[in-house]
Amino acid sequence: MRTPSLLSIAALVAATAGAQAPAAQGRLSVHWEELTAADFRQGITRSQGTCLLPFGIMEKHGPHLPLGNDLLNVRYASLHAAEQEYAVVFPEYYFGQIFEAKHEPGTVAYSRGLQLQLLQETTDEMARNGCKKIIIVNGHGGNNSLLPYFAQTQLEAPHDYVVYVQGMARSGPGEPKHKSDPATDMHAGEAETSVSMVARPDLVHLDRASQESGADQARVNLPAGLYTGIWWYARFPNHYAGQGAVASRELGEFETKTWIDAIVQTIRAVKADQQSLRLQNEFYERSKRPLETPR
Ligand SMILES: [Zn+2]
Repeated sequence: MRTPSLLSIAALVAATAGAQAPAAQGRLSVHWEELTAADFRQGITRSQGTCLLPFGIMEKHGPHLPLGNDLLNVRYASLHAAEQEYAVVFPEYYFGQIFEAKHEPGTVAYSRGLQLQLLQETTDEMARNGCKKIIIVNGHGGNNSLLPYFAQTQLEAPHDYVVYVQGMARSGPGEPKHKSDPATDMHAGEAETSVSMVARPDLVHLDRASQESGADQARVNLPAGLYTGIWWYARFPNHYAGQGAVASRELGEFETKTWIDAIVQTIRAVKADQQSLRLQNEFYERSKRPLETPR
């Protein structure tokens, strides 16, 4: 008879320890939906209550990228970051601001009220489950006003958790030279297509990238600093801004790594942050009796 190896003894112990036994430290998934209830408890402890909510969208991305491009890319970056610096990552979320694409097929645009309500209930539910530090990782430019506004409105009423918003951070020093004009490389253009070539190369149809124009149509002429909601439709009605055809894996690898590194740094900073929740609580208390706020 063979002497059982240490490994098979460990496997036997694990198998007989019962369904409630948590996984060994090193094997915890970062995916919320892949954890058992017992492993989830361990994941929250290991992440120090730090959770990611990668936020995508369903929207046309030029003639060559999938509708879920932003969701796929932001999840790729967030999941890789959480694997480097442990955090629990919430499942697919794409219920954001995208009214400006309602004229294109495949767009899913929830109403203004529902966007805010669903996001609030989602972060409330995350916090009820121990996520006291929630990092919303934004993957969609159309959410750039919604998400800071959502974070600001957390001061409306007391919460026992903090919402942080991580913007898109894909370019940086040492970046490979772009082949197209960075000023109009905004949506399904060179940079974004390059990232998609890393995250989901099987869904990038580079041969179709020149079937439509990603040129700025500049149909409204207004002074800088004057905002109107139709600005995007006025400039890029085809939901294509830039030149996807000149995308490269080299640029994609640089931008993706920069983005992942930024999220890793954010997770570390948030774990170390002991001030935001303390100040929030102080603020909520003082808000009840503003006349008593010390001068
Ligand atoms: Zn996009």
